[in-house]
Amino acid sequence: EGTSLSKTIVRLSEDVVNKIAAAEIIHRPSNAIKELIENSLDAGSTSIKLTLKEGGLKLIQITDNGHGINRADLPLLCTRYATSKLRKFDDLQSLVTYGFRGEALASISFCSHVEVVSKTRDEGCGWRAHYANGELVPAKPGMSSDPRPAAANDGTVISAEDLFFNMPMRKRAFKSPSEEYNRILDVVTKYAVHNPHAAWVCKKAGTALPDISTPAASDVKSNISLLYTPSLAAELLEVKETVLQPADKLGAKCRGWVSSANANWARRGGWLLFINNRLVESSKIKKAIESLYTTVLPKGASPWVYLSLEIDPAKVDVNVHPTKSEVHFLNEDEMVEAIVAAVHGALANANVSRSFNVQP
Ligand code: ADP
Ligand code: MG
Repeated sequence: EGTSLSKTIVRLSEDVVNKIAAAEIIHRPSNAIKELIENSLDAGSTSIKLTLKEGGLKLIQITDNGHGINRADLPLLCTRYATSKLRKFDDLQSLVTYGFRGEALASISFCSHVEVVSKTRDEGCGWRAHYANGELVPAKPGMSSDPRPAAANDGTVISAEDLFFNMPMRKRAFKSPSEEYNRILDVVTKYAVHNPHAAWVCKKAGTALPDISTPAASDVKSNISLLYTPSLAAELLEVKETVLQPADKLGAKCRGWVSSANANWARRGGWLLFINNRLVESSKIKKAIESLYTTVLPKGASPWVYLSLEIDPAKVDVNVHPTKSEVHFLNEDEMVEAIVAAVHGALANANVSRSFNVQP
């Protein structure tokens, strides 16, 4: 049958379907990191530590102090579309947690070896479990795949080893672990700026000095100072929380910190956009704000911008595919205009030495 020219339609096996889906969600280590971080934040963590080997390709390990995972939930943990956060389709519209459809851990388990150790506050001990292809598997051949009791702190440790070990083409695409590590640092830095209540650590395995380290109960500006530069932080202007107008139509608030006309910025990128606490891209918002800045910055210079938008989920297209970090809104043009107006307000109010007159 293999050599015939027939065009018989066959179903792809479930395993192939799941692998395709996994590869769409986890393109590279930093995508996995983002999903794992959001899970830790969803679990209420105030401490999040990441350890990486070979830019995450060899090992990603994330340790949090969140609410942990019940023993009873471990069998379904890595099953595709298994989630504690979404019950019915309507929930998508009102969802406040970040990940939303139970695909992240499943995807990671389809392209790496996953180990989970987790302990809730009510349980006397933690549980250790291993996963492959969405399911519990034995730690070693011949052993049972049931989770086993383990000494553990409250919270969850998730390790993903040998990312893309079963996707040789994908694996070969990564030439430089250090480039992947830099992408990871970028993601962690941005989440640390946006979530200063938590203490963050990110380091390479086997090194003593972390590349990222922030204290708990910090604030946005202190973390920018720590993670970018003190001089950038000193120059930043606050965009105080603003209800975007027209309020009824847009259903959105905006706040953030932006560079002034004479800022001396930015080591690791200058664009941080969070919508409903998820790091996203919006080329429309980015373009509009960059063009606002062209009137105040020297030629060739670009601004440093951190914006956090809270938008009524009914006005954001939350059901976009998780790999599409580019978001869209209802009333997009008005939304962008209102955001630019908020940033313009911060620039215009600033008591900067250089005088300027911004025309958006
Ligand atoms: P989603 O976040 O969309 O629900 P995930 O695959 O990312 O899907 O996670 C599946 C489920 O596993 C979550 O709904 C949550 O209940 C649980 N979970 C994952 N990571 C953690 C964690 N760090 N702490 C506590 N629970 C977690
Ligand atoms: Mg998730």
